[in-house]
Amino acid sequence: MRCYGCLKDIDKGLYYCPKCKSNLFDGKSMKPLNFDKTEFYRIRGEMSEKMSISGVQDKISLSFNSNNELVPTNKDGRYILKPIPREHDNTVNLEDIVQNEHLSMQISSQIFKINTAHNALIEFSDGELAYITKRFDYSLNYSEKKIVKVDQEDFASVLEYTSENHSKAYKYESSYEECALKIKEVVAAYIPALEDFYKRVVLNYLIGNADAHLKNFSIIRDVDRADYSLSPNYDILYTKYHLPKEDATMGLELFKEHETNTFGAMGYYTLEDFELFAEMIGIKQKRLEKIYKVILTSRKQVHDLIDSSYMSNTAKESYKESYETRLNRCLFYYIDTYPFRSFAQDTIKKYL
Ligand SMILES: [Zn+2]
Repeated sequence: MRCYGCLKDIDKGLYYCPKCKSNLFDGKSMKPLNFDKTEFYRIRGEMSEKMSISGVQDKISLSFNSNNELVPTNKDGRYILKPIPREHDNTVNLEDIVQNEHLSMQISSQIFKINTAHNALIEFSDGELAYITKRFDYSLNYSEKKIVKVDQEDFASVLEYTSENHSKAYKYESSYEECALKIKEVVAAYIPALEDFYKRVVLNYLIGNADAHLKNFSIIRDVDRADYSLSPNYDILYTKYHLPKEDATMGLELFKEHETNTFGAMGYYTLEDFELFAEMIGIKQKRLEKIYKVILTSRKQVHDLIDSSYMSNTAKESYKESYETRLNRCLFYYIDTYPFRSFAQDTIKKYL
């Protein structure tokens, strides 16, 4: 048995290792949920009017009842539960989607060391897997034993993108450059925040997440604090596996206006773009080399994590192949006939 949180081996009969139990469930021992997916949709229907979680994927809020069981709630929910969704147009392989999101979030936290929302898989009463994540817009104040709401603003809101001043697809109409400039403006500790943001963009590119749009990045602050920080990473998965016809790369463009020579020739982002993006948002050479070194030296760890995930074998193979292709032929690809000022080429030559 592998932990439904971190995917490490645990004793038979357990669902979560002690560390995940502590991070996710305040140390409570967890069993499968006491309801199934049919019940989920019944509750979802009843609560849809009152729910405050945005997005189109079916989800409900959960919190602990007095018996320490996770049950649906429409007030002060501390968890979000997402089951395997119903069929939508053009979507395929949905039976792997919750395991895919869980794995992608684990790559974010375990390999990329990005501050990532706590997450895991959990079983419905009939054994079907769902994805569960702990809300970070509610934090528990242990000394006063009460739940404190955290101010959260996604980047559509921060940048004031709406369907009125843009099109209906407004959340896809910005660029990561624009987000980065805003981080510099609103986050006090913007240097580490921009490095974190850069890693998130690279991660989305490598795992084939075409849905990293404005609403999937947020800033947060505790109610009694004045300064914002970048929220934990959330809502990331290898979307290309479920929407193979989708041709978007990440959701947003890298640049507001700029186009590199290699992009002009190839039609997709390569090293020249990612180095220029790093330079534009102020990532120092040493830091960039370090980020690339981690990515290049952790390929086996990524493969091992994929292998230990709960996805089907077909999905695992696709994830690995896609990741390798994007690493070799996209992120670290460059053409000698299009020279550019590279900071990290030595690191890449050394570890690729
Ligand atoms: Zn664990």
